Amino acid sequence: MADPAVLLLTRDLRVHDNPALVEAARGGRAVAPLFVVDPAITVSEPRRRFLAESLADLQTSLRRLGADLVMRVGDPVVEAVRLAGQLDARTILCAEDVSRYARNRQRRLARACERERIDLWWGPGPTVVPAGEALPAGGGDHYKIFTPYHRAWSGRRWRAVAERPEVLRLPSGLDGDDPLRFFDDPSGRPAAVAAGGESEGRRRVRRWRGHAAGYGDGHDDMAGDRTSRLSPYLHFGCVSAREVVAEFAGNEAFVRQMCWRDFYHQLLAAFPDLATRVYRATAADDWADDPQALDAWRQGRTGVPIVDAGMRQLAAEGWMHNRARLITAGFLVKKLGLDWRAGLAWFGERLLDADVANNAGNWQWVAGTGTDARPHRGFNPIRQARRYDPDGDFVRQHVPELAHIEGPAVHEPWLLPRRPSGYRISPVDGGSAVEDVFEGR
Ligand SMILES: Cc1cc2nc3c(=O)[nH]c(=O)nc-3n(C[C@H](O)[C@H](O)[C@H](O)COP(=O)(O)OP(=O)(O)OC[C@H]3O[C@@H](n4cnc5c(N)ncnc54)[C@H](O)[C@@H]3O)c2cc1C
Repeated sequence: MADPAVLLLTRDLRVHDNPALVEAARGGRAVAPLFVVDPAITVSEPRRRFLAESLADLQTSLRRLGADLVMRVGDPVVEAVRLAGQLDARTILCAEDVSRYARNRQRRLARACERERIDLWWGPGPTVVPAGEALPAGGGDHYKIFTPYHRAWSGRRWRAVAERPEVLRLPSGLDGDDPLRFFDDPSGRPAAVAAGGESEGRRRVRRWRGHAAGYGDGHDDMAGDRTSRLSPYLHFGCVSAREVVAEFAGNEAFVRQMCWRDFYHQLLAAFPDLATRVYRATAADDWADDPQALDAWRQGRTGVPIVDAGMRQLAAEGWMHNRARLITAGFLVKKLGLDWRAGLAWFGERLLDADVANNAGNWQWVAGTGTDARPHRGFNPIRQARRYDPDGDFVRQHVPELAHIEGPAVHEPWLLPRRPSGYRISPVDGGSAVEDVFEGR
């Protein structure tokens, strides 16, 4: 029987479509699925809870298949190599990723494996098309504009979806660990916050089958909640992007949105400073400094109802509708003139789905410092509100102080004969000819 293998799990917390897991267990080889809690990565609430639940769910699935989940705390490279040494394992497997931190980890793992004469097998990363695989015909290491990328991406042959292993085997003498022991008590999740884990992710994929057909028309309906809400599951790899795209092939509007995710990953791979430095070299990068305005934005107390509704959805759910992300981000950078990095940091802390590629790529897009071909668009939150929350339901759902105001009047409470009590309003232009921002996103 072959030597055992160590499977270092990172953002692939699943047993379905996990090529590294399949390869690890090939030929009945014993496999030690390892997750290392890395103190160098700050995981804020509520993401910590989502991660803990995802690991607990993964452990249940691995146990059902005959294996278990091994947990360690420390440097993933050191811990993976150490475990391999303890088990006499000659192979470590790991899925690739694109952030600077992940790539450094990968380089260090490669060096350590070489030193220890351990074979290293890289599995495909978190995207459908690996970063760097779809390249512009005219040269360059990445696509700078989405539309040609989308064309190239759609024309690629995507890898086959991997079968879930039928049975797994843990190396003898190795025991699993309770993942929940490695996190502060993850119980007490508010009902509005999504539960972590592959089982829940797959349940949502199944449910989405019944709704996905309406995505093209409905995805901008802020109150209708007509998007998949798969983003946190995709972020932690509880569901695989490849499998989701296979499942909804033919639903062009939805698959196109999945392509944005890959687009930003290939951008980050080529420009590792995406979260800290403007991507477009000629973009202005000077911003106002107004801690009070920033704090009001974070707390959902700007006095502009549609902005506050989005920010409060984020606080309550750890998730925000894409249209609300565009509006709240546009408000921060285009109306308040504040630095997109401050918004990025807040989203990074509060969103379950926060990742460097999507968060930074989108913030730079909104700020006009990124890949948007029209970086100087105007921004009008009231027009956005009227168009994407025409009856005002989204605002009423999230801003209880305004719940008694009927219809679209809720978007401009400063026009009402009686000002609502308990809500500090901050009038902004409405209905002007200002160019509408972010159409077609
Ligand atoms: C300022 C800002 C910050 C953002 N930060 C993040 C982030 O940290 N993590 C994140 O996953 N998404 C981010 N997004 C993109 C988008 O808002 C979310 O992916 C989407 O709202 C998630 O909801 P959903 O799963 O219901 O999406 P759906 O509409 O159902 O789309 C399906 C999937 O496609 C991908 N996707 C959709 N829109 C985008 C997009 N614009 N960019 C990249 N991928 C996309 C996501 O993986 C999403 O789960 C951000 C958008 C903005 C404007």
